[in-house]
Amino acid sequence: MPVNTDKSTISKLKKELSIAHRDLKKASTLFSSIGEAVIVTDEYGRIERVNSLTEKILGYSSNEMIGQRFFNIVKAVNEDGTLIPEIDRPITKAFLKGSAVFERLYYLTKYNSMVPVDTNVSPIIFNNKPSGAIEVFRDLTDEYIKEKIQSEFISLASHQLRTPLSSINTYSQMLSQGYAGKLTSKQLSFVSVIEKATSRMNDLIHTLLNVTRIEAGNITVNVKSIDIDNLCDEIVGSLEYLALERGISIKYTNDSITSVESDPVLLREVLSNFLTNAIKYTPRGGRVTLRVEANDRVVFSVKDNGYGIPEQSKNYVFSKFYRANNAVKNDVTGTGIGLYLAKEIAERLEGDIWFKSEINKGSTFYFSLPLIGSAEKQGKFTLEIPN
Ligand code: ADP
Repeated sequence: MPVNTDKSTISKLKKELSIAHRDLKKASTLFSSIGEAVIVTDEYGRIERVNSLTEKILGYSSNEMIGQRFFNIVKAVNEDGTLIPEIDRPITKAFLKGSAVFERLYYLTKYNSMVPVDTNVSPIIFNNKPSGAIEVFRDLTDEYIKEKIQSEFISLASHQLRTPLSSINTYSQMLSQGYAGKLTSKQLSFVSVIEKATSRMNDLIHTLLNVTRIEAGNITVNVKSIDIDNLCDEIVGSLEYLALERGISIKYTNDSITSVESDPVLLREVLSNFLTNAIKYTPRGGRVTLRVEANDRVVFSVKDNGYGIPEQSKNYVFSKFYRANNAVKNDVTGTGIGLYLAKEIAERLEGDIWFKSEINKGSTFYFSLPLIGSAEKQGKFTLEIPN
């Protein structure tokens, strides 16, 4: 066939070639700038393409990888360092299954260090036949370091911070009870300040530890049949002293339901937080009521006739460390963590959490559970019961 060499055809071809070049360049720039590491292999398992993140994570240059057998370059190991055989590698499984495989494992770098990775391998199917695979993986080192720091903080705070605090507590109680001789009223009032500060510090460590536990991994949900009156009486009883000190009356009512299947430690954490807040954010002479009702869910509510939450703060009270200016203005101590923790717990228990509030009239915080209760869940940590 004669080749058409007229000027217009040549210029058209040139234009198409330049567009194809531009597209290729664009695709190649896109490939190299993908935010995750990518390796493409052919149907024989040889590396065809890698992007710059792969080079960075594995330590090999693209020249060292391209054309090599994937398994010769990318060695995978278990947590204990044992080599994962080729047959058990996600890329083999993806080929055999003909669909994507996700796995978390460790890769060995060129310098033999272990990198934790999340991998996602998909076979490339062309004309109904596998013609290679594409593997996308993510370096989890930073997440692992964060988890390690969190776990270390949990064990450090549980032991190292609490031990001296419990000595301070024991010895100040011994002082106030006269074990070291009778104290003057001034000395007694000083010791009482130490006792209160120690108890605040203990609460703070307790809350911080629980937040860290929640953030370091899912918390365990230990479901039991909870006697609602028993639990609520107990919580109210434990806060009566605080209420009395602040001149607040506290009441519990429940005419509708006797028990619910859920985690008593987690439920207690939520209700204690609601009640403590209601007492803290209500001026002297105020009233706080804990009510339990059952309709299509079991609803726990804590109503106060206190300061109320300013309109502009309503969206944020469940955020970590958020304290509305009603707290700051009325000089009420707190951390801004309690409601954040309560919300996280609610999610774990299939619970709903919400509130209504009107400035200078009061607030009602609600927590509801399904009538069938919460489901048992295994997690990395369990929450601690306050002492
Ligand atoms: P805090 O330690 O500050 O009490 P929380 O997370 O428990 O932290 O509550 C967050 C903020 O929500 C509080 O600082 C306060 O501004 C507001 N708040 C919570 N409960 C009440 C309430 N019953 N009445 C008024 N304001 C409340």
